[in-house]
Amino acid sequence: MRSESGLNYIVKVASRCNLNCSYCYVYNQGDTSWRGRPSLMSRETFTAMLGRIRRHCVRSGQETVALAFHGGEPTLVGPARFAWMCAAAREELGDVAEVILAIQTNGTRLDHEWVSVLREHGVQIGVSLDGPQEINDSARVDHKGQGSYAAVVRGIALLREEGMPFGILSVVRPGADPLLIHRHFLELGSTSISYLLPADTHDTIGGLRSEFGPTPCADFLIPIFDDWWFNSSLDVSIREFWNLGLVIMGGSSRLEMIGNPPLHFVCVETDGSMQGLDKLRACEDGMTGMELNVHDADFAEIAQASPFHAAVMDGLPLPSGCQACPERETCAGGHLSNRYSSANGFDNPSIWCLDLLALFAHVRTRLGVTHEETERRRSALRQAGAPPVTLQVS
Ligand code: SF4
Repeated sequence: MRSESGLNYIVKVASRCNLNCSYCYVYNQGDTSWRGRPSLMSRETFTAMLGRIRRHCVRSGQETVALAFHGGEPTLVGPARFAWMCAAAREELGDVAEVILAIQTNGTRLDHEWVSVLREHGVQIGVSLDGPQEINDSARVDHKGQGSYAAVVRGIALLREEGMPFGILSVVRPGADPLLIHRHFLELGSTSISYLLPADTHDTIGGLRSEFGPTPCADFLIPIFDDWWFNSSLDVSIREFWNLGLVIMGGSSRLEMIGNPPLHFVCVETDGSMQGLDKLRACEDGMTGMELNVHDADFAEIAQASPFHAAVMDGLPLPSGCQACPERETCAGGHLSNRYSSANGFDNPSIWCLDLLALFAHVRTRLGVTHEETERRRSALRQAGAPPVTLQVS
């Protein structure tokens, strides 16, 4: 990461969650750093963070800046403090960059007051849900083990009643019925869907593979792709599919899932500490730490203070096991967390390598684009010096 690179921010306004999902990489995959942090981000820390973001926007000259409110569960801050945070962000940053605000919530605490705050401050909304009740509630439970589905769909119903667009963020469930899940999301009225690959590593993947076979994610996603492609639901954006199409057409990946793109975003925790790519929590306890805090450091210091995270933000080198792969330029090893093993660090192909190859092959067939054509298009775009991407990934 160059110190003048533009950045976007994942703002952890709450370091606790009212749910306790079994696969959560924040709380249930070995990282314990959340335990020592304040439950909620204070106004003082939020204000200090905005000052640092402002300085970085001026330094980088970036024209837009996105703040995504995350947790834990971000609605734990309450609607009043959240409204103050949104207003403060627009006031502090609005004259140096266009401010994009978003929230990723489990949706269980949405009520009329929350919906009106989100509307008033123009906040984009993502709701986490894994499917119909039986599927969702097998993993997305509260601290007493009770399923979250009923509360989430109550929140979604409120958003629909109020005409508020929302996307659904879902984690791929190996072995579950993919079309049942996908059609449920369409019925719920989401305007976009994201299907995330599970955040396992080479150290943890064994059981999943022995239970569900060599390509559980491709087995899940390919039927959804065809349903999306052939059944008139292309108006619902599925980020991972758009992105696959984008790189196959010679463009640059915009998602962490593939392509090893530069990740110019930083997490800021409730105590003001700057943190790297969130999913690296699934690799090793404390791996996201940068030893920098908005109370006394600028974001530009990351390049010097944390060479590992600076390198992660620029994209780590291709794993040696991917060098001969026909998708080495498009896939580029997959998501960093899925490359990790305690033996080799990040020098492994993704645990989802076979799934990714199957997905690429399938999407290539549907688009009718060969590896050679991808390469020709990528080279032509590079030679023209053109921005390689024209498709909108929302
Ligand atoms: S498909 Fe597999 S071998 Fe090819 S780049 Fe991706 S992870 Fe590496």
